[in-house]
Amino acid sequence: MYFNKKNNFFHGIMFHHFHDNLKHKKSQGSISKEDFCKIIKFIGRENIINADLFQKKLKDNNLKKNEVCFTFDDSVKSQIDIALPVLEEFKIKSFFFVYSSIFENQPDNLEFFRYFRMNYFENIDEFYNNFYKILDRDLSNFFEEKISIIQEKKIKFPYYSIEDIKFRLVRDQFLSKKEYEKSMFEMMKRKKFDPETVKSKIFFNKEDVINLSKLGHSIGLHSHSHPTSFKELNQEDQEKEYKKNLYILAKILNKKEDEIKCMSHPCGSYNKYTLKVLKDLGIEIGFKQIMNIESDKGMLKINNSPLEIARQDHAEIIRRINE
Ligand SMILES: [Zn+2]
Repeated sequence: MYFNKKNNFFHGIMFHHFHDNLKHKKSQGSISKEDFCKIIKFIGRENIINADLFQKKLKDNNLKKNEVCFTFDDSVKSQIDIALPVLEEFKIKSFFFVYSSIFENQPDNLEFFRYFRMNYFENIDEFYNNFYKILDRDLSNFFEEKISIIQEKKIKFPYYSIEDIKFRLVRDQFLSKKEYEKSMFEMMKRKKFDPETVKSKIFFNKEDVINLSKLGHSIGLHSHSHPTSFKELNQEDQEKEYKKNLYILAKILNKKEDEIKCMSHPCGSYNKYTLKVLKDLGIEIGFKQIMNIESDKGMLKINNSPLEIARQDHAEIIRRINE
């Protein structure tokens, strides 16, 4: 069972993408409605606490070690289309962490790239081949240099293929973000894919946020523009990111800013200053995305502070169910 496998502390469960193979195709790390129901059964409905109660119990120092809550990051529409009906059926009120640049016509390109990769190619290898063709750079030395890193990653992330790992290294290390995006946009142009046409299919709109809140789910911060390495931002930018995020969400929900008190760290990235910014904004509960203690970051315990609550990834739970 779930809690006998070392999860003997309260935490969040982290969800991202869902698929139904109709409107939302299966993609890396996505789960189906059936998988989602299996996860609820595996954890045990009685162990899943509503978001507002979880937040209150944390404040009162009252959470039991078998209690978890559900959290949804990144404001992706498949959560509304596939997960929300299940949540309502099981009466599980959850946290939804919403980054706000999507409401200003500047969503992170990551989701568009993901959609493009999944919908415009027969399979992932065809995508990689196309990408390298357009990039047209000699990568043999780079891969040679990285050979031990590739092997290490394969052990750490067994569900990634070698090609997946190589692609990520090229994207994140060989290329700058700008160079990577340039190649992706070139590919999209050649395949006549216009991101604007699928925006509403990929992301929440304002009504989705309002509706979730009306249904009793908790809406929280996830930064304004979703930087992948938040801790690298200077103090001023960190402050801007969360202030703008809070301002926009409060406006959409027609709430006072101090009524929003929860958040999750984009890509799990933060530093001491981030925690100060969040505290100053009145945030009471924050989630990271790991389930271990990182002593090099000064963490002393698993749920290191109210703004550093551990979360288990849904993919890991599926892996355990199938074990
Ligand atoms: Zn995120």
